[in-house]
Amino acid sequence: MTISVDQALCSGCGICIDLCPEIFTWGADGKAQAVKDVCEIHNPEEVADQCPMDAIDI
Ligand code: SF4
Repeated sequence: MTISVDQALCSGCGICIDLCPEIFTWGADGKAQAVKDVCEIHNPEEVADQCPMDAIDI
């Protein structure tokens, strides 16, 4: 499983980072980035479902 954030779609709202800071962090351009592919606390697919821009690919 590979998780990525489409930089062209991400609005930088920060929801994914609030929901799972283990996987999602801020990139230098104010958009989210995925730095891991797994989280032992949160289900990344549920986080992706909450992205208003549908920018998270799993
Ligand atoms: S929830 Fe989606 S639009 Fe918001 S910061 Fe994360 S990837 Fe970007």
